[in-house]
Amino acid sequence: MKLDFNTIIIGAGVAGMTSAIYLRRAEVTCLLIEQEMPGGQITRTSTIENYPGIKSITGPDLAVDMFSQVQELGANVIFTKVEKIIDQEEYKIIHTSTKDYTCKHVIIATGRSPRKLMIEGEEKYTNRGISYCAICDGPLYKKKEVAVIGGGNSAVEEAIYLSNICTHVTLIHRKDRLTAQKNLINRLLERPNVTIEYHSTATEFMGEDGHLTTIKIHNTETKKEKQIAISGCFIYIGQIPNTAFLKDLNICNEHGYVKTNHLQETPIDNIFAVGDVTSKELYQIVTATSDGAIAANAIINRQ
Ligand code: NAP
Repeated sequence: MKLDFNTIIIGAGVAGMTSAIYLRRAEVTCLLIEQEMPGGQITRTSTIENYPGIKSITGPDLAVDMFSQVQELGANVIFTKVEKIIDQEEYKIIHTSTKDYTCKHVIIATGRSPRKLMIEGEEKYTNRGISYCAICDGPLYKKKEVAVIGGGNSAVEEAIYLSNICTHVTLIHRKDRLTAQKNLINRLLERPNVTIEYHSTATEFMGEDGHLTTIKIHNTETKKEKQIAISGCFIYIGQIPNTAFLKDLNICNEHGYVKTNHLQETPIDNIFAVGDVTSKELYQIVTATSDGAIAANAIINRQ
């Protein structure tokens, strides 16, 4: 049976794009399927300063550079949503919302999506003051007061970025200390226009005329409620893996991450997974690109 492609990569984040680069350099036919825009999580990242060889770059710029490399190497790219992978053992069928494609190998690189707070007003004011992407929406809040929720690397990095644009940034974190890298925390603490509300959980978003105006927070130590006037709120409370379309395959762990071995192989023959969609110790661009290269190399070695 003639298959459409040797390999189909699902997801054009940094992991999937790296797989495409390695496969194309070895002249393996591949199709890269993306449902939004190339880049994945880095398109929502303001500044990247820990990718070796590049001292500082914006996430969107790195995404554009990688995607142009993928295209120059002749990878086929389509923009559609993958709904299901059908395992026929000898080959796989990738069922998308537009068409079915056949291939020998699959690389799952669908990454993660921002976790939601699930509190009152969040849905109502999303895109009307609430955002999950400071680099996309931050400029809308120039010279305004905003809040950032979370205490990890993303929240702290994006709070630093927003403090350059906005009059004031309130960082709201549920614990008594931030868990981001020390250098990021130090940079945040140096900012004169940043206030940190520790031990605090957001309980409600309120607005006027269809736009966010206020966040209500609860201090778990003092048990006091407080309302803060803000024009924008950026939520960075972690991510959830994009694996709902894999439920029939039974290759995910109890947290929804795909299980892989040292070659990025899943429990199903010829199906690989790379990047943030996998269960791993360190979620970074370097580890995602590393996964992408390892999976592609395993496929190249089977040719
Ligand atoms: P993260 O490290 O999982 O941090 C999530 C933050 O949100 C934590 O402070 C957590 O608080 C808080 N949180 C979780 N659920 C919450 C809820 N329901 N309500 C309020 N707060 C909540 O997520 P991330 O910052 O998005 O980072 C994801 C991964 O990418 C991490 O592995 C990170 O290291 C990596 N990353 C690295 C860089 C970098 O190297 N420069 C930049 C960005 C991201 P608790 O601590 O209380 O759980």
